[in-house]
Order: sequence, then structure tokens, then C-alpha cells
Amino acid sequence: MPIDERRTYWLTVAGKRKETTVRDTSSTSSAGVPASDTAIEIVAALMPSLKTDLGELVRIPSVSVPGRIDDDLLRAHDMVARLFSEAGVEVGRLDLPGTAPAVIGQIPAPPGAPTVLLYSHYDVVPAGDATQWETPPFEPTEHGGAVYGRGTADTKSNVIAHVGALRAWEGRPPVGIKICIEGYEEIGSGALPSYPPTDPEVFRADALIIGDMGSITPGTPTLTTALRGMANVFVEVRTLKSGKHSGQYGGAAPDALLALVAAIASLHDEHGNVAVAGLRRNEWDGPAQSEAEFRQLGEVFAEMALIGTGGLASRIWSGPAITVIGIDVPSVDGAVNAVSPHARALLNVRVHPEQDSVEAQEAVMSHLRNVKPFGIELDVQPGPTGDGFAAVTTGPAYEAARVAWAQAWGAEVLLAGSGGSIPIVSALARALPDAEALLVGTTDGYANIHGPNERVLLDEFEKAVIAETKFFREFAARAATTGGAT
Ligand SMILES: [Zn+2]
Repeated sequence: MPIDERRTYWLTVAGKRKETTVRDTSSTSSAGVPASDTAIEIVAALMPSLKTDLGELVRIPSVSVPGRIDDDLLRAHDMVARLFSEAGVEVGRLDLPGTAPAVIGQIPAPPGAPTVLLYSHYDVVPAGDATQWETPPFEPTEHGGAVYGRGTADTKSNVIAHVGALRAWEGRPPVGIKICIEGYEEIGSGALPSYPPTDPEVFRADALIIGDMGSITPGTPTLTTALRGMANVFVEVRTLKSGKHSGQYGGAAPDALLALVAAIASLHDEHGNVAVAGLRRNEWDGPAQSEAEFRQLGEVFAEMALIGTGGLASRIWSGPAITVIGIDVPSVDGAVNAVSPHARALLNVRVHPEQDSVEAQEAVMSHLRNVKPFGIELDVQPGPTGDGFAAVTTGPAYEAARVAWAQAWGAEVLLAGSGGSIPIVSALARALPDAEALLVGTTDGYANIHGPNERVLLDEFEKAVIAETKFFREFAARAATTGGAT
């Protein structure tokens, strides 16, 4: 019997059927979890099977690599399609050029009910140096109330959380459902970001649950309201036909490496603030992360000062950042006494949530083209870009989410920004301007995503499933009181 707030329903736990009513406003509005909460009981009963499914999905090393769609990626796609189909979704497959297939699908909405799009991704980043892992990266290992493995937190537990909420409603939630689970998120989402505007029906919904985030710290239910954009920039310097003896030529010969280093140094001021004209920054108006928390999450050495000035949040959420993520220069080991003829670097620019990422990329490129260290021209080329996102937080979906997330965690909800980027989000926001986007999930600041020993906390995982289960009810209830889908 599905959870239907306007009727009583049956909960089967441990073989005993139990009748419970849900239309108890006090249980839906007040923060804090009432004594017996049906959604909590149902999800608790589902957790063993959800953990098994998570383990099975994590065991598939679905690493996304540009230009390749290999068997493991397709195996993960097929497993995700099966899980959603079994959970009641009419599943389809979206094949776009040069992009891993996305699992799409729907559960039609009950009359007058709103529709919710569930987004997530089944691809993962490479495990990196396996010797840094305490347990095998693709062997899900449970200990200390967590499951360890590549993709447990980013973001396979979020895929399973969507499945869990649908199972809790036995495939008949009080809202319509659309799903989009992609397989190329970690490498920029391929052709997917440009697709929603061409076929919005596949994604049309009143609210989007972007399952690829989580709690800023364990125990703090977090709705992420802003994502920075992203732009990559290649910088290359060629000065000589080949390396020249540093004794004979050093001091006069144009040194490609010196020029590159000088150019990179010009991107920040003496305090470490980005010093490129045209990159937007403003103070973050809202609760922010404390410096102590940031240092702890970032594992910053005690004697190290943070860089940049002004509010921490405006440095990591509502302002730019430029990181050198790759550099091709002679390595120290094996170095010879020679002036470098060539040097190259790849910069990753994080952009204010509301600034156009191409405009920001242009600003960085023109800065580098104008800097000409020692009169040396730089070859500056654009890499991929992705716009940021800033949520509207005043609509019925946000209202419903505040209640559902607060109840699931028994704590006040925090609205926070994020320095990271999810390319599809701004594309969906453009294609569906009236839809509210909720950036949520199972992960937390200590999950080590993209690093060794990534892990998801089972408690956060379970609460994320409960929150989503409750959200369907809260959102449907609000639509009912405001006279149907928004
Ligand atoms: Zn992710």
C-alpha cells in the first residue's frame, strides 16, 4: 500500500502489518522528527537492500574517459536502468553524440500534482594511486558506519537514494517523476548540457532534485543554493627551437618556463586574491562555513595561512578562483642545466555563480595575452566551460524541502553555496526557468570525493532517502493547497 497522505496506509516491517495515518499537519510542519515517523520506519526497512544495490553499483568501475564509452560504463548504465524500472519508472535511454547514454524516464503525475525531476550520475572519477587506499577502490567496504569505495559518495549513493525514495512510495509517489541519470558528469557531461533546450519535455518538471551534493558537515542538512561556473584555459610558451645550455645562454635567452611562471604569478595579488579584471566577486549574503571548519575539511596544515582576503564564502562560493591543474615543464628528477624552450599549463577557473563562464574565460585569456612577461608572447587557448547556478529559494519546493530535510535530520537546514560545478544544472535552469532546483544529497565535507578512501556515511545516506521520501509528500501537499501543480 503506497504512502498516500489523504488515506491511511499499511507499513510492513519485520512481517507485521501496521496501520498508520499521515495527514497529521503537526508531523509535516514542525522541525524535529516526531516519535513514530512512518517514512523513517519505511526507509529503515529498505536500507539493507539499498546498501546491497549500492555495493553492486560501486563494484562496477564506471570511470568516464573523454572519447570513450566502455563496457563498465554501459554495465553501470544498464544496472541503473534496471533499478529505476523495478522502482516503477517507465525507463528510456538518451543517446547523444560522443556521450555516455543517460537513463531517462517517468512516472506520470497524479491529477493536479506537481512533477519532480530526479538527476544524478553513474560515472566516477579514476581511483588514482591505489596504494593510497586502505581498501580496494572498487570493492565497497563497510566499517565505522560508512561504506568506502570510489563513487560511494560521488555519487552512486545519490543514484540509490532516488531509487530508495521511489521504493518507499512503492513506485506510486504523490508527485509525477522524471529521471535523468547521466554517465559523463565527471568529464563535463558531453553533449547533454546542450540538450534540454532542444527537448525540454524529457526534463519538464516543477522541481529538480539534483542528487550530487550533500551536507556541508555530517548532521547538518544542507541545501546548496549556488554553484560556481567553470572554465579551463591552456597557456603555452615556445621561445627556442630546443633547450640551450643555461650557462652559455641563461640571462639572455628567452626562457619559456620563466615566462610561464611569471604569467601565472600575475593572476593573483600579493594576498592571493585573483587579480584578473572582469571576474565577478561579491560578498556572500548568508550563513557561511567557518574558517576552522574549512581548514579541517581542507586538511590545511596548522602553520599555513589561508590565501585571499575578505569573507571566506566570497572566496570559495561567490568569487573567482584560478588553480593550476596541470603543467608541462622539466621535472626536478632528471633535470639538466638548460634554458627551457617550451612550457605549458592548464588553468581551471572557478567563476561567480551568476557570471557567464565564457565571458569569464575571455577575461582570463585577455589578461594572459596582455601580460607578455619579458616581452614574450603567450599562446592562450580556451578549454571547456560550464555556467554556474544561483537558486531561487522562495518557492513551494524550497519550502517543502526545508521541512523534509529538517525532519529527516532533526536539525535546522543550512543554505550554503558550493565552489564546485555541475554542468547540467545551469542548462536545466535555462530550459526550465520556472522549476526550482534543489541541490542535495548523501555526501558530506569529509567524504574525500575525487580523493583516496572516498566514503559515504550510512546515516547521511539513510537520511537523504528519508528527506526525499518526505519531500514528495510535502511538495504534493503544497501543490494541493495552492490548487494543483505550480
Ligand atoms: Zn558528482
